[in-house]
Amino acid sequence: MYHPLGTLDYITKAALRKLQWKKFSRTLEHVYQNVTWYRDQMREKGVCPADIRGLEDMYKLPFTVKTDLRDTYPTGLFAVKQDEIVRLHASSGTTGKPIVCAYTKGDIEIWQEVVVRSLLAFGLHSGDILQNAYGYGLFTGGLGLHYGAEALGLTVIPVSGGNSERQILFLRDFGVTAISCTPSYFVHLLEVAQQMQVDFKELPVKVGIFGAEPWTEGMRQVIQNGSGLKAYDIYGLTEISGPGVGAECTHQNGTHIFEDHFYPEIVDSETLEPLPDGQEGELVFTTLDKRGMPLIRYRTRDITRIFEDDCPCGRTIRRIKKISHRSDDMFIIRGVNVFPSQIESALLAVEGSLPHYQIVLTRDGGLDNVEIQVEIDPNLIGDTIRELERLQNSIHKKIETTIGIRVKVTLMEPNRIPRSEGKAKRVIDKRTI
Ligand code: ADP
Ligand code: ZN
Repeated sequence: MYHPLGTLDYITKAALRKLQWKKFSRTLEHVYQNVTWYRDQMREKGVCPADIRGLEDMYKLPFTVKTDLRDTYPTGLFAVKQDEIVRLHASSGTTGKPIVCAYTKGDIEIWQEVVVRSLLAFGLHSGDILQNAYGYGLFTGGLGLHYGAEALGLTVIPVSGGNSERQILFLRDFGVTAISCTPSYFVHLLEVAQQMQVDFKELPVKVGIFGAEPWTEGMRQVIQNGSGLKAYDIYGLTEISGPGVGAECTHQNGTHIFEDHFYPEIVDSETLEPLPDGQEGELVFTTLDKRGMPLIRYRTRDITRIFEDDCPCGRTIRRIKKISHRSDDMFIIRGVNVFPSQIESALLAVEGSLPHYQIVLTRDGGLDNVEIQVEIDPNLIGDTIRELERLQNSIHKKIETTIGIRVKVTLMEPNRIPRSEGKAKRVIDKRTI
């Protein structure tokens, strides 16, 4: 029987640093011996494992970036022989061709353990029933949560994404207590439940496990108010394992990183200099004990900061601010950097707008234009034109004051914006360079 106190979540900070270093020095040696690419990178930078005498020397090591994983495709970063690899996964490819990652039996066990610790942090135990609506397959969400939940003794319904009416039936008929999927897909499920006249708040579901895409605090409120469940963040990426690199606890005040396995750093994304806890920058991970495809100083492109204070839950492992954007989501309009999450926060602050929106970028006579298409509450459809204009103006004002550039707001009838079963596509860029 697992119990949170039996995990390393509460280890003393000094013991944690010692453990991290012990694991990391082994990984560094393993990588140097077995991955030619890493050996070459280190030689090029003029460092070898002997130069790294503690975690504080980590900054001397070269970074690994997404394109390195593509350039070494298919097996250039594998650090063990093929017969030790038990599984492959690939990133969902939101930003290009897939990146393939390899896991040994031990790597799968680490992943399973961090998912168990995530589920415990959400307050789940054996006896709970999880409907896992993350996609199964090469995407890590499905299998990752699946094995962790089974290991903890939960009942798992591997429903995967899609077939939303059946999702609602299962939720209703099997006493499901937790659901996992992308936040955008969950918002769609809420809508489907309403169409089926199922009151989500009457269902026994008490925990929602949401991740794989950025979601704002505004979105959390929409979800919690609409469903009656507690919405928790789970963070992860294929390159480092999958979901469970970090998870929120019931305080919902930051995502704890399982840093006894994945060592986090924050670096300035321009200068690449390490930043102290508390400062915002790009999140970088070093896997401390993975064997199949260990990564050193992997730049995630996710922007966040590490909290300096301790969490009231007592966990000593550090927390990051829930990721609200990744650097490659950013678009530049008339010289201004904009993130979709800024637009999401602004429009969800206006009563009457729904969390279904899309940002369409066009170029007209050399000038960039932004159109925000947002669905409105079906109850407002019968309103007078003047009332609708008032709503449009409030959204308009709120977005323009948030991002500081002129935008066009188009109100849409419900169900006009395409729904996604996985990661939502928020930005449609129609500009031709
Ligand atoms: P990709 O989306 O790059 O094809 P993955 O499917 O491995 O690859 O997704 C990992 C990425 O998804 C992360 O780097 C991050 O940008 C995003 N992500 C995952 N979990 C969360 C979360 N809880 N909050 C925000 N973003 C997340
Ligand atoms: Zn906590």
